[in-house]
Amino acid sequence: MVDYHTHSLLSDGTASYEQMVLAAIEKGMDEVGFSDHVGLKPVTWAIQEVDLPVMTRQIEEIREKYGHLISIRYGIEMDYFPGREAEIARIIDSLPLDYVIGSVHFIDDWNFDGDESLYGKWSNDELYGIYYRLLQQAAASGLFDTLGHLDIIKKFCVYPESDQTPLYEETARIIRQAGLVVELNTGGLDKPCAEFYPSPRWLEILFAHDIPVTLSSDAHHPSQIARHYSQALSLLKKTGYHQIVRFHERKRSWLRI
Ligand SMILES: [Zn+2]
Ligand SMILES: [Zn+2]
Repeated sequence: MVDYHTHSLLSDGTASYEQMVLAAIEKGMDEVGFSDHVGLKPVTWAIQEVDLPVMTRQIEEIREKYGHLISIRYGIEMDYFPGREAEIARIIDSLPLDYVIGSVHFIDDWNFDGDESLYGKWSNDELYGIYYRLLQQAAASGLFDTLGHLDIIKKFCVYPESDQTPLYEETARIIRQAGLVVELNTGGLDKPCAEFYPSPRWLEILFAHDIPVTLSSDAHHPSQIARHYSQALSLLKKTGYHQIVRFHERKRSWLRI
């Protein structure tokens, strides 16, 4: 099994690569991918551009030490900001990555998944519209391999006032057209929303649009690697998925589930 969304001390995780890798080996994982936050904003929870060579070197060291026991993939979780695509591309192209997760964590300067203060500024329908437009732009940018935690805007149990199915359908069409993969991120189950990202209903829409998925935990601690995977695999199979995507040097292969 694989886990492609994990964080280390280099961003906002609580453990070193080595501690994370040892936990993944202990859990019997075949493959673990690191995806520390890379930021264009000077936030404490992301690695800054100047420190990227340290990250690459640490990945190489950990592969040398444990690569015979487990496949270690090098990814990043890259923030998407509209209008800054060239800067994002320059960072991505400078690193020997296996995959890039594109995530929307900001609406303008507001980091809505860490700071609850501006919920209520818009109606929830408006907020969903703003968030999903950003996600659509991220998908259409062509910068990323997968989209992170698709419906994280629900994290603090903020739900739209009206049925947003047309918005989800439109977003799915854009993701499909861009040829992107979406992760089933099990971390949401441990957040106030108590649900995977994306929700089971959203996952059905993705499946109907023939959008491939991968599987990840968003682990920030060794104990969170592959969390809730049996539930996630049941949901994937119930939805109709029989395989998930693996990444190596930004190329895809399939893993049967
Ligand atoms: Zn994230
Ligand atoms: Zn993350």
